[in-house]
Amino acid sequence: MPIYEYACDKCDHRAEMLRPMAEADKPVACESCGEPMHRLQSVFAAGGGASLNIRGDQSPPPGPGGCGPGCGCMP
Ligand SMILES: [Zn+2]
Repeated sequence: MPIYEYACDKCDHRAEMLRPMAEADKPVACESCGEPMHRLQSVFAAGGGASLNIRGDQSPPPGPGGCGPGCGCMP
C-alpha cells in the first residue's frame, strides 16, 4: 500500500497515511483542527528525501526458498 502525505491548509499540520490507491483522494480530516487536508505528492513518486529507495540493492523478499545454509530451518 502506498504512503500518502497530507497537509492542512489552515494550520499546516501534516500527516502520512497508508491507504489503498483507490482511497488516495478521499478527504482526510486534520488531526489538529478538523479541517480537510489536501494530498501532497506521494513519497514514492517524489523520490527525494525519503530513505526508501536510495540504496540500489534490494534484499530478496522473504518467503519459500529465502533461507540459505546456516539458517537452521533446513535439515
Ligand atoms: Zn489543521
